[in-house]
Amino acid sequence: MNKVLVLGAGQLARMMDLAGTPLNLDVKAFDVRSNKVVHPLANEHTYGDLQTGIDNCDVITAEFEHIAHDVLAVCEASGKLLPSSDAIKIGGDRRLEKALLESCQVANAKHKIIDSRADFDAAIADLQLPIIFKSALEGYDGKGQWRLKSMDQAAAIWADMQDFVEQANTSVPQGIIAEQMVPFEREVSIVGARSRNGEIAVYPITENHHTNGVLSVSLAVASTNALQEQALEVFTKLTEKLDYVGVLAIEFFQVGEQLLVNEIAPRVHNSGHWTQQGSDCCQFENHLRATLGLPLGNTELIRPTAMINILGEDSVPEQVLSIPGVAMHWYNKSKRAGRKMGHINVCANSEQQLAEKLQLLASILEPNAFEDLQDFADRFQARLG
Ligand code: AMP
Repeated sequence: MNKVLVLGAGQLARMMDLAGTPLNLDVKAFDVRSNKVVHPLANEHTYGDLQTGIDNCDVITAEFEHIAHDVLAVCEASGKLLPSSDAIKIGGDRRLEKALLESCQVANAKHKIIDSRADFDAAIADLQLPIIFKSALEGYDGKGQWRLKSMDQAAAIWADMQDFVEQANTSVPQGIIAEQMVPFEREVSIVGARSRNGEIAVYPITENHHTNGVLSVSLAVASTNALQEQALEVFTKLTEKLDYVGVLAIEFFQVGEQLLVNEIAPRVHNSGHWTQQGSDCCQFENHLRATLGLPLGNTELIRPTAMINILGEDSVPEQVLSIPGVAMHWYNKSKRAGRKMGHINVCANSEQQLAEKLQLLASILEPNAFEDLQDFADRFQARLG
């Protein structure tokens, strides 16, 4: 039996375990808060400290990128960590991420690193308003971001960012990146796997919708070959440069027919959760296969699928389960406002049928909890004509 230790004990480790069990894989998770190795489905079952976990596994991987560097160093020293600590760190630091994109000559939003007030003023002159400022570290789901739309906001934003950087309690210095606001038509992502022998398999690009900066709906339907090829090309360049092993996600802004990279996640990703029902081999299984050196599974879209995030709610009406092609995925987490608690995958035989099911779901689910779902369903329906 192959044994995998996942750094992080959240829903992504949980879903890796659920995907790995039929392959007879043993998945354990390292909970960075308690410093204990735990069962991914039942955190109360513990299996010792990090070193014990490292000694008792074949492969170590990660479910998130904000992992203490000393933990990464110990794991890397064991020779079992995949992807590498360098790849994981790039996902956790926008400065490293931008440097990677530049070194691979991959298109992304025009940006500047801000170390001083002079840099801040130069960025405003160079990038032109509106500008989005992002913290280099620990920024995700729209946190640690400031939007400068007019010059009368500049002094307050500068003061706020300075406080933020000074108060940071990070192992490497916190910093700020200024980025030109991209007038995108839509946000898409590509999720794919690269295995130990360099084999690459990517899923079809996914269209992503955010509500208050957090992913709310992902849509996996047929896309144009040109966009898919562009995304694959970026995926191949970045993963080959990093000699990456495992699943990696790349988020893009689509402007016309061009894709600009927004950010990369060196792990399984929320925008790939649809693969649990919309493909033969989901991202969690492919991540395990890639890191263990097993052949990768089929990544084709087998039916139009949408994923709806459940944020801050611990129940939905039972009627949801009566809709054919709906699969519920709860994470067994305690309820907290805005927290990712689970997701709903909904599959259909055609895009039209998917639109109808989304309309039905929007009518059943509580509109306050699924704020944009009705709007999304209406826009999808209108697009199909
Ligand atoms: P991020 O944490 O970088 O993914 O940003 C969260 C969200 O803010 C993105 O999903 C976009 O909707 C928006 N956003 C971030 N960067 C930009 C940008 N340069 N231009 C326009 N919108 C952006």
